[in-house]
Amino acid sequence: MVKETIRVYARVKPLGRRQQTAVYSVDNDATALSSLEITMPRELADGFVNNKRESYKFKFQKIFDQEEKQDVVFDSIAKPVAECVLAGYNGTIFAYGQTGSGKTFTITGGAERYSDRGIIPRTLSYVFNKLQKDSSKVYTTHVSYLEIYNECGYDLLDPRHEASRLEDLPKVTIMEDADQNIHLKNLSLQQASNEEEALNLLFLGDTNRMIAETPMNQASSRSHCIFTIHISSKEPGSATIRRSKLHLVDLAGSERVAKTGVGGHLLTEAKYINLSLHYLEQVIIALAEKNRSHIPYRNSMMTSVLRDSLGGNCMTTMIATLSIDKRNIEESISTCRFAQRVALIKNEAVLNEEIDPRLMIVQLQKEIQELKDELALVTGKQRTSELSQEELLQLDELIETYLEDNDPDSTLDVGADTRKIKYCFIRVKQLMKHSNMSDKQLLSQHIPEEKDINKEAAEEELIKLKELLQQRDNEINILVNMLKKERKKSQDALFQLNAASAGSAALEQSLLLNLEESQSPSCCLQEAKDFSSSVCSLPSLPRQTEGKMSLGYQEAFELFKRNHADNITIDDNKQLLKQRFAEAKCLGEKLNEVRNKINHLKGEITQRRIQRAALAISSPPEELNTLDPVEEKLRTQMEEEKKCYKTMFDRLKGLKIETEHLQLLMDKCKTKLQKDFEVWWSQEAVNLQTQQEKPETLSSPNTAPVYPQLIESSQHLSTDRTPPNSSTSIPLTGDNQADADILAFIKARQNILQKKGLGNK
Ligand code: ADP
Ligand code: MG
Repeated sequence: MVKETIRVYARVKPLGRRQQTAVYSVDNDATALSSLEITMPRELADGFVNNKRESYKFKFQKIFDQEEKQDVVFDSIAKPVAECVLAGYNGTIFAYGQTGSGKTFTITGGAERYSDRGIIPRTLSYVFNKLQKDSSKVYTTHVSYLEIYNECGYDLLDPRHEASRLEDLPKVTIMEDADQNIHLKNLSLQQASNEEEALNLLFLGDTNRMIAETPMNQASSRSHCIFTIHISSKEPGSATIRRSKLHLVDLAGSERVAKTGVGGHLLTEAKYINLSLHYLEQVIIALAEKNRSHIPYRNSMMTSVLRDSLGGNCMTTMIATLSIDKRNIEESISTCRFAQRVALIKNEAVLNEEIDPRLMIVQLQKEIQELKDELALVTGKQRTSELSQEELLQLDELIETYLEDNDPDSTLDVGADTRKIKYCFIRVKQLMKHSNMSDKQLLSQHIPEEKDINKEAAEEELIKLKELLQQRDNEINILVNMLKKERKKSQDALFQLNAASAGSAALEQSLLLNLEESQSPSCCLQEAKDFSSSVCSLPSLPRQTEGKMSLGYQEAFELFKRNHADNITIDDNKQLLKQRFAEAKCLGEKLNEVRNKINHLKGEITQRRIQRAALAISSPPEELNTLDPVEEKLRTQMEEEKKCYKTMFDRLKGLKIETEHLQLLMDKCKTKLQKDFEVWWSQEAVNLQTQQEKPETLSSPNTAPVYPQLIESSQHLSTDRTPPNSSTSIPLTGDNQADADILAFIKARQNILQKKGLGNK
């Protein structure tokens, strides 16, 4: 359990050029708390506020002055909380301050620059990065996005309802279980398996929030938004699950209505515009008081949802956002006062661990059995019946496992049944006797002399080398067959071509050229190399010689591959994959465009609202309550763009799944091709061997080897093959090119044999 008070930070928003110079000073102390001093200008202190004090001092964990950037704020405030959440504790970060003081800027961020990203996107990035690196646990992450306006909760991520008006969204309600745990009914938890998905959900939620808002309900300043990251983790094989939540809260504007005509205690007596913030203050006052047993959490939805974050099982951090210019001094002081009270609240965070009930049952069953056994031993109740056949078999198995276990601490546990214990002793004795006898027998057997061993080793080596020789000869023969077949094929093709178009000599020439090219060993080898590098993840080939594929094997594989039915599938898939990649790239670009458009529209709406708010000061209040047609138009536009964005994002997600699937399919095909080839290769080798043993059967075309799974049938195989002889004659085809290949191959074989010390045998 970790006990600590809520950490409270302050952030001062940059002052505009037209705003007056600062009326505050910051004293950031690296070792202790920092302090913020707000000085009341004399004219204010004397007149408007009837208060004698001129300066107010407040303590904070740290104060981020105007020039502090988002990354610094994230590093000092959010990173430690995110770490705790990753470790299994609950965390909350909430921003409190008047409208326009920078709450949304701090929590979510500004839309314009990437560097303006706020705490939510930075935390998502940080968390997913950490999860990816930790392979020791299995993690699941979900996000939810709740907006509370006028005591009603709305799900900003509800996939079934397109947000048009806030009031049209399904309402989220609070439920309390018997243990007084809060549950939110109708709030959807969306799984986000990576940063991209989570950011997309945040973006959609923010867009929904803006669309749902009307100028009349002023939802942005009067609603609370809670973005929650839910993480659960489990070690493989363990029954314990850790669950933690991180609430990132953008509270409603804390501005208060001054009671006009009342002097003196103006700052403390001013009323919140937002009632739920009033209840939040009540909760905080109650928590800060000693000996208060009742905390009025239930008075508002927001305090109910954040109950754990305030004085409960949570590591909580508050950011007081301040916009300290002359006009906002009262608001700034009341924000700081609120922060000082919050800083007194103590939280107790505990690790949220749960046990998997299934494992619990197994453990309890074991315990019951042990207790039963113990009871039987204590009561001395003897069971008269003999052990059943099944029990005896079970015991034999147990004894066997026990004896085979090398762990010196292993035990043989048969419970407290004396019949079983006795049986075990007898059985172990029997086994001991038996093993003694077999040991003696072994000792009396012949021990071979050193000379014998050497001789045996030499013989073994000889056999191995002979086998290798045989293998290579088989390779040559298979290759000769294949080359003959290829040659026949090209001749057939040429013949057909000649018959069809006797005219074009140039065409023929080019075809011949192509054929030569495709038959040249360097071309085949290059392709074979390409392919073998593309299948580098496959299991190693059995015919590799000292880490290198033999030449014949490679070439045979290349030819086999070319004729294999699956090769077409692989090529098709390759094409499709290329297409999909191009499509995904195009879609990604479009998606970015739409996202930028939406961001632009958001900016325009914000601008429009600021303009109208300024206008409202000088014009009658009815103006403010009429719908602004320009904003309406912008909102409709944004709604359209959002729909477009969603469709495109879903399509992109689909494409990603499809390409992954295609890639898997291709890998499968490649593995299959490889396996088929190996089967075929070994069959060829066997066939050749039998042919060598019985050369007379060679003349029969029926014995010609057949390619398994090949498109081509064996019709191209020539039947006039020279019977292969492993050591003397070289089988030549009569075709210059093919014969050159064979000669090159045989040379390679000789090289290998020479290396082995066998010479040109
Ligand atoms: P709130 O959510 O508290 O009403 P916002 O976050 O919307 O306030 O901030 C109001 C305006 O001030 C926005 O245009 C925002 O971009 C800008 N702003 C707030 N804080 C900062 C800051 N630290 N740096 C730059 N701009 C800021
Ligand atoms: Mg805001």
